Amino acid sequence: MSGSYNEHSKFSPSAAHRILACTPSLLLEQQFPNETSTYAEEGTAAHELAEHKLKKALKMCSKKPVSKYDSDEMDEMTDIYVEYCLGVIEKAKENCNDLQILIEQKLDFNDYVKGGFGRGDLVVVGTGELKVIDFKYGKNVIVSAEKNPQMMLYVLSALSLFDMLYDIEKVTMTIVQPRVDNFSTYEMNVHDLLKWAEEELKPKAELALKGEGEFCAGEHCRFCRAKNQCRARTVKNLELLKYEFADPSLLSNDEIAEIMRVANELSKWASDIYTYATALAINEGKNFDGYKIVEARARRKYTDEDAVAQTAKAAGYNDIYKTSLVSITEMEKLMGKKKFNEILGALVDKPKGNLTLVPDSDKRRAITLVNAEFQVEE
Ligand code: SF4
Repeated sequence: MSGSYNEHSKFSPSAAHRILACTPSLLLEQQFPNETSTYAEEGTAAHELAEHKLKKALKMCSKKPVSKYDSDEMDEMTDIYVEYCLGVIEKAKENCNDLQILIEQKLDFNDYVKGGFGRGDLVVVGTGELKVIDFKYGKNVIVSAEKNPQMMLYVLSALSLFDMLYDIEKVTMTIVQPRVDNFSTYEMNVHDLLKWAEEELKPKAELALKGEGEFCAGEHCRFCRAKNQCRARTVKNLELLKYEFADPSLLSNDEIAEIMRVANELSKWASDIYTYATALAINEGKNFDGYKIVEARARRKYTDEDAVAQTAKAAGYNDIYKTSLVSITEMEKLMGKKKFNEILGALVDKPKGNLTLVPDSDKRRAITLVNAEFQVEE
């Protein structure tokens, strides 16, 4: 394996789209921890497996990785990726008998972005052309290869290594995202790519590395570590609320469509802020005026269904099956709350609910952090 999956440059290719759209975000987000997620870990495991399978298929030395995320789906998706890559390699061999094939290669684009590097999943270089393929295991965001800065950075790096030898004119970038059946390919000529690198990438990267430039909020904020506290994002979202309507009485369909678009952005932002504030209140005991922590409602469960059925029948309740034993709520209705507690109370488990942040007006009693323990307020 060439380098570690956890090795990252400050200007990460996977964040290039956001950094180029909002250059000061690069330094602003450094003050927030780079927390990993199960999705990210699963993605790394899928990449390691894909790398191993591709190397094996090309008769290269590789040891099968083992991960807690191994699954039939991962096996199938990595097979699809490998099959696609082998097809590309076979086709490239038709035009060149001296192909260069790089798998999970560290790609350095320091010529354009100081200290910048990334890892290309597959780079195939032959006479006159260069192909870069990137495997995406995620399925929540469909990624397009069209003018994708991450791919363009990989290509720039590979070009600087091979252009002299292969006289490359055309580059092809492909995203293989098998879980959503997305195979996105974009072709560029080298001249246009270099123009972009000189005129857009270089100057913006310089600004970004100095923390300069204009803040610019947009769809790209969702992956920024500063997104919950970013003032520019807040200002932009509050501006969305100032929508002015031409007709004072009724909304047109166009206006309704516009409101839905705005509402979508606002609800994502509100949810980010709420999650962030809840985590601060629960994990660090931070106070937010007008809000308190309570225990969320938890679902009750029968501890032993057979015992419940026997006990309920012994108490004279026979109508307690539909396709299976009736739910706790239905049973409670059938018996009445008091009797239900007397007869089945010992056979019902009520797990503790998760803590959650709610407005002070909520009826539930507040829970406060006392000596690192949560206690219900008297
Ligand atoms: S949240 Fe958005 S606007 Fe704010 S720094 Fe990050 S990318 Fe820029």
